[in-house]
Amino acid sequence: MVFWGNEVGRDVPIAPSQFLQRWNVRRRDGDIAPYPHLLLPTIRDGSIVGMFMKAAVLHGKEQIVIEEIAPAPLKAGEVRIAIEAALTCGTDLKVYKRGYHARMIVPPAVFGHELSGIISEVALDVVGWNFGDRVVVANSAPCGECFYCQHQQENLCDDLLFLNGAYAESIVVPPRLVQKNVLRLRPETSFVDAALTEPFACVVQGLNDCAPKPGQHALVIGSGPIGLMFARLLKHNGCRVTVAGRGQSRLKAARHLGADDVIEVRDNSSMIEGLKAVRFDLVIEAVGKPETWEAAVQLVRKGGVVNFFGGCPSGTAVQFDAGRLHYSNITLLASFHHTPRTIRRALELIESGIIRANDFVDGEWPLTKLPELFRSMAAGNRAVKTLVRVHE
Ligand SMILES: [Zn+2]
Ligand SMILES: [Zn+2]
Repeated sequence: MVFWGNEVGRDVPIAPSQFLQRWNVRRRDGDIAPYPHLLLPTIRDGSIVGMFMKAAVLHGKEQIVIEEIAPAPLKAGEVRIAIEAALTCGTDLKVYKRGYHARMIVPPAVFGHELSGIISEVALDVVGWNFGDRVVVANSAPCGECFYCQHQQENLCDDLLFLNGAYAESIVVPPRLVQKNVLRLRPETSFVDAALTEPFACVVQGLNDCAPKPGQHALVIGSGPIGLMFARLLKHNGCRVTVAGRGQSRLKAARHLGADDVIEVRDNSSMIEGLKAVRFDLVIEAVGKPETWEAAVQLVRKGGVVNFFGGCPSGTAVQFDAGRLHYSNITLLASFHHTPRTIRRALELIESGIIRANDFVDGEWPLTKLPELFRSMAAGNRAVKTLVRVHE
């Protein structure tokens, strides 16, 4: 068996003994080598002098630098995942524009949080995971001990531990995530499908919270990846679905995913005008703007449910007619994040083919060009989701 390493653009063979010695890889039935590109040792004069990996480091507002960094050695309880698929997300774009996210990421840090891959190294005390396991990992794990965790509201855990670093060749997964939110993939599940698990789990959470019944008519405001996933899942639950959004290609995608009606939105007042005659049992706001929150309340029927799924920045104020809320008996709720249960349910739905990356991922970029990709996303390139290729 020969492993291949990278020496300034040239591949050179490495003896497995060197590889094993350097990385203490736990062997499973002697089967250790289906993924020769997992590790990239630097070779000088035929011997390993160090390891490095390419990673996109966020340094602050709109500042991404592709760096070659030394992967951290594993500590007890950790595993390393060689990343096979990393996807862009609206949250990453928000973080890029803002330069930080108080709870999720403090720069400088490797960022990106939707990923799947292959376990390439396992700390010696880790049980149940092996080199070569194909996995997806969520972007957070709850503590399991606080009030919210004890009441099955782990999405609200007081001490959620976040994981960032999808835009890199590998990532170290801390013990809490290894124990709670690393999931094994079926052999036939593609990495890019699996990488949708995290955003889709948020959608599963949102749908569980509003518990739609078959035959109900749902309006989804927003045709980004989240709005499109809602359309698909509502359809799968037997609802009639209308999607209101911007961009012909996204509305076409909504139709393709089963939306019964699509409405091109030019401005909020014409959207409300055009839809107010329809009796929507359920309205999902998947934009995250105060004006669409307000529109959602105006578009739901008496006795209906509104889910404010799109988050607005803290401090944002919205106005509702209290009379309408009360005398029309409207239920307002706002779903946030996911739990270990919805993460598992999301992967199950992905593996049963309900959600496929083909319907959401409409571009592919190399990791080295990530700064350009985020510049074009910030300028509004209208891509739904982009697959970031970390092995070039
Ligand atoms: Zn995301
Ligand atoms: Zn907790």
